[in-house]
Amino acid sequence: MCHQHPIDETIVLSMNDGAGITTVPVPGRRCPACLERGDTVWVIPGKCCPVCGTPVS
Ligand SMILES: [Zn+2]
Repeated sequence: MCHQHPIDETIVLSMNDGAGITTVPVPGRRCPACLERGDTVWVIPGKCCPVCGTPVS
């Protein structure tokens, strides 16, 4: 099989809430615009990319 990037991935964001590190699995997608520039920016589907503002759905 050839290399194929899955469209949907599950990422894990580590959030430090002050009482320790809480790891919460978050479904996210990589911003395609940032990906073209070589940056991997995770965006929650339905939100806009925090870097370039591209809506990701
Ligand atoms: Zn972006």
